[in-house]
Amino acid sequence: MASALDPVALLKAAGIFLAFIAFLFVGALVFPGKNELGVALPDGTRQKYKLNGFSSFLIVTALTALGCYTALFSLASLHHLFWPLLVVVNLFAFSFTLYLVLTGRRKLGGRPGVGGFISDSFYGVEINPNLFGVDLKMFSYRPSLIGLGLLNVSFAFAQYEAHGLITTRMWLFQIFYFIYLTNYFQFEYGMLYTWDIIAEKFGWMLVWGDYALVPFFYSVPGWFLIDNLDPMPSWEPPVLCALFALGFWIFRGTNEQKHRYKVNPQTHIWGKPAQAVGGRLLVSGFWGIGRKLNYTGELCIYFSWTLTTGFHSIVPYLLPLWLFCLFTHRAWRDDQRCRAKYGPLWVEYCAHAKFKMFPFIY
Ligand code: NDP
Repeated sequence: MASALDPVALLKAAGIFLAFIAFLFVGALVFPGKNELGVALPDGTRQKYKLNGFSSFLIVTALTALGCYTALFSLASLHHLFWPLLVVVNLFAFSFTLYLVLTGRRKLGGRPGVGGFISDSFYGVEINPNLFGVDLKMFSYRPSLIGLGLLNVSFAFAQYEAHGLITTRMWLFQIFYFIYLTNYFQFEYGMLYTWDIIAEKFGWMLVWGDYALVPFFYSVPGWFLIDNLDPMPSWEPPVLCALFALGFWIFRGTNEQKHRYKVNPQTHIWGKPAQAVGGRLLVSGFWGIGRKLNYTGELCIYFSWTLTTGFHSIVPYLLPLWLFCLFTHRAWRDDQRCRAKYGPLWVEYCAHAKFKMFPFIY
């Protein structure tokens, strides 16, 4: 049962959340990881990143497993505290945004960013705000995705508490998500070349997305699995595994190919030297088939774990549906950006890779 929003539950939730953030922040300073330089920023500088998200993820996973194994705590408590945690996280997101606007403006000598206070708060003032040398935008993916992972697992604990078993549906959901999250942290260096890190300022939009939207909305299919004890037909697990594997191959392969090309344009893709339009836009591998196949692969992944919930409710499907809208809009925005940046080269690239997300359709 999820807790009501009483003061005790809220205090508990605040304690858990702040301890979690503090642990990860100290971890960002001290856990082992490689140092890498990010891409050149608009002012020509390159920021140094300590990529220790993977060790943070492994350490939190190991400590949580140990805590549960020794019965020090049960992860089901996160599910019970879902609503109080959501309130706390929202308060945090608004306070953090205020901090970012005030510190960002102070660095600009008290001047507003591009817009007024509302615009500065929503979009942010600085691209790379940092605290004690930790890039706050890059850091925020950690509480976001590790928090999502913990909430997901809490649903399995809640199911076991309520029914004394973990269903095949729940196992598949947990395994798919665990692979996806583990891989994110293994590939953390790939984030250095993403649009959010390079181009977006850090304001409420990204802060709220990281701390509230991702953990609390992206975990929603898990809620719908707790009491779903319907057996799965025997054909369904292999089909869902195949969909997940296909999505994963496309999603990871696409991002990996672009990353390798950006780091070393002489790299090989699918066994052949990488080819690029004008020496700048990759047309080998997935990038020669479609312009946004990384989005398509990720959509397949999200559908594979949402389908584990069956068809009792439309609510879990709001997640892949939301992602579909986000990606369609993002693909359009990125197209505008690349058209402005690359000019005729982009037109040439589009003639080569005709489709955006769905070959022969879109
Ligand atoms: P991309 O990784 O596709 O990055 C777009 C940029 O890549 C372009 O602006 C351009 O930047 C460069 N680029 C585009 N085409 C080529 C090409 N052919 N050759 C070389 N460079 C090219 O998009 P995002 O940053 O939006 O997404 C990154 C990942 O994050 C994706 O896998 C996406 O699925 C995922 N994501 C997940 C979300 C979620 O909620 N689950 C939300 C958002 C993203 P330039 O040339 O200037 O470097």
